[in-house]
Amino acid sequence: MHLNPYGEDAVNLAAELANHRPRGAEELADRCRAAGLTLERPVVRDDLLRTQETLDAWEKVVDATAEPERAALVNAMLAEAAAYPRLTDHADSGWHLHYREERQPLGALLFSLIAVGTALHLAGRGMHRLRRCAVTECVTIFADTSRTGRQRYCSQRCANRDAVRRHRARVA
Ligand SMILES: [Zn+2]
Ligand SMILES: [Zn+2]
Repeated sequence: MHLNPYGEDAVNLAAELANHRPRGAEELADRCRAAGLTLERPVVRDDLLRTQETLDAWEKVVDATAEPERAALVNAMLAEAAAYPRLTDHADSGWHLHYREERQPLGALLFSLIAVGTALHLAGRGMHRLRRCAVTECVTIFADTSRTGRQRYCSQRCANRDAVRRHRARVA
């Protein structure tokens, strides 16, 4: 996985992991591989624990409604992940930037990837483009990468559900 200028893949991976928390190190490794991450070290239980902590911190970013609060929470993650950016061409994947030390365990790698990816997404696309679904009983998180930046629902299914409900409320 390369961090594109908008951090899209990284922020989508964070949402995917937060919405369905991985239950084991093996599952975490499989899902990261499926998302295009190159794993250079075996994935162990510590990686899973670190990932759960990362997702807890990240969900606070999602649930922060005021922009300065949201920025402060992302900045705290960036400060903790701090490493100088470097060019790398590991795994024959072409030259790209890493914002972390080389050969980190997956837990640390994910923390830095999610912190930097989220910062790039919010700065590049808009501070408001990270939220939970507008349907009250749906807690699904999504990064809004739409053209207009006005996505309110996690899925078409939830959009339809809310439309039906608003229609019923009007005719009742
Ligand atoms: Zn890389
Ligand atoms: Zn939803």
